[in-house]
Amino acid sequence: MKPAPFDYLAVDDLAGATAALADGAKPMGGNQSLGPMLNLRLARPAALVDLSLVPELRTVEESAEWVRLGAAITHAEIEDGEVPDPTGGWLRAAAANIAYRAVRNRGTLGGSLAHADPAADWVIVMTGLCATALLAGPSGTRRVPLEDFLTGPFATGLRDGEILTAVEIPRPGAGARWGYWKYMRQVGEFAKASAAVLVDRERGRLRCTVGALGRQPLVLAEPEALLAAEVTPREALAQALPGRSPADLALHATALARALAEAGIGDAA
Ligand SMILES: Cc1cc2nc3c(=O)[nH]c(=O)nc-3n(C[C@H](O)[C@H](O)[C@H](O)COP(=O)(O)OP(=O)(O)OC[C@H]3O[C@@H](n4cnc5c(N)ncnc54)[C@H](O)[C@@H]3O)c2cc1C
Repeated sequence: MKPAPFDYLAVDDLAGATAALADGAKPMGGNQSLGPMLNLRLARPAALVDLSLVPELRTVEESAEWVRLGAAITHAEIEDGEVPDPTGGWLRAAAANIAYRAVRNRGTLGGSLAHADPAADWVIVMTGLCATALLAGPSGTRRVPLEDFLTGPFATGLRDGEILTAVEIPRPGAGARWGYWKYMRQVGEFAKASAAVLVDRERGRLRCTVGALGRQPLVLAEPEALLAAEVTPREALAQALPGRSPADLALHATALARALAEAGIGDAA
């Protein structure tokens, strides 16, 4: 099947993109998730505005505290180290496991987060790293922590006419540890279960995040208890996710145990 006809809009800058959205155009990043929806006619926009070459969305900013990656930076650019990785390699490793190279060449960081597939890698990795979404729209700019930006399966806090412009990733402190585990049936597939663990005592950031739950990532309320092995991953998830089947809980608890082990905590289940 082919898409319903639409206008393609190339714009010179963010102001042009925002104006196009105000006129009813839909934003397009790398078109890797939107494209199939257009082909299946699940989306029928009258116009698409191409964000992939908008200069403001391709920029990288750095400070002593954070790195801001523009929303139109591709997975491949992160994988190849063409942009700074404030984590010293955690982002590069995650990028390399997204789909396959052709998808990574086009797919963007911002497109992935705006699409908000519960099983997507950046959705859990950026939440797990305590990143912040930077948004621009008709009422100006605003900052939203990723865990608040992602509001449900394929749902975000983007308001009408808003564009996700960048993601601000805090620099981890000295000695910070990280574990990210993604279970997929075949390389290049979305996760069936995933978990991320950040232990950054210098910066006071402890976070255990569970993904691929069919909803936005779960940020566990009491990571200290897990890190101290006072509760098992299975017990923590049973409490946080009531009503899940034993098999489902076991799958996600295993992902969490393996992420903890990768971060140097406990043994993998
Ligand atoms: C075969 C295949 C396998 C895949 N496997 C994985 C995988 O293992 N892990 C994974 O994480 N992903 C996977 N993906 C998805 C891929 O990572 C996409 O790149 C990503 O989901 C969407 O990014 P995009 O830039 O292509 O966005 P698009 O497809 O262009 O857009 C997606 C949505 O976001 C909106 N949007 C895009 N950019 C912005 C912005 N800056 N501001 C506001 N709204 C915006 C669009 O309007 C659209 O609704 C896979 C895709 C394919 C085709």
